[in-house]
Amino acid sequence: MYLKKIELQGFKSFADKTTIDFEKGITGVVGPNGSGKSNISDAIKWVLGEQSAKSLRGSKMEDVIFSGTSKRKALGFSEVTLTLDNKNKEIPVDYSEVSITRRVYRSGESEYYINKTSSRLKDVKELFMDTGVGTDGYSIIGQGKIEEILSSKTEDRRNLIEEAVGIVKYKSRKKESEKKLDKTNDNLIRINDIIEELS
Ligand code: ATP
Repeated sequence: MYLKKIELQGFKSFADKTTIDFEKGITGVVGPNGSGKSNISDAIKWVLGEQSAKSLRGSKMEDVIFSGTSKRKALGFSEVTLTLDNKNKEIPVDYSEVSITRRVYRSGESEYYINKTSSRLKDVKELFMDTGVGTDGYSIIGQGKIEEILSSKTEDRRNLIEEAVGIVKYKSRKKESEKKLDKTNDNLIRINDIIEELS
């Protein structure tokens, strides 16, 4: 699996539709200060479901939408699509290419699409669980991240290792099953109460 393409429209400084193609191997992005290099990695984090405006170097989610310049009006929405090569089926779907889109409007409404099909954030998160990609993954190592990993609590470090060995998916499913079990137990208690009342 590797990142093949990013398409941005209305995301931060990328007002016009911009496509960035990546080849296999290492890509370097160079440019003057403030030209939008970090906005590209912000865009990747954002599509993968980042919910914290601070992690995207803003104060509110609306800050990811192009806010205008002296020559150009602000835009009403922001959209980013990531296209990943999936020939090795590392992402557990039958497609050899997977595209993820996130769109947000100034009203705050957010939409996600997986291969152009409307999806939930949960679906996007599940798709990348245990692949190292994702907001909690290790595919984006920002400034200070290594230091953060080394000095973080053992529990936080463990999360990273669990993602690498591929058990996050199972832990998440276990949590969901436990929640369902709890709900079923509550329902059973309620039914027994009703039976007792009736008998
Ligand atoms: P450096 O090399 O200094 O780290 P950089 O190339 O990584 O810079 P970025 O931090 O990616 O630059 O981009 C900053 C630019 O993006 C600034 O010019 C800022 O005005 C612009 N920008 C950020 N958010 C928006 C927005 N919502 N609308 C328009 N422009 C924005």
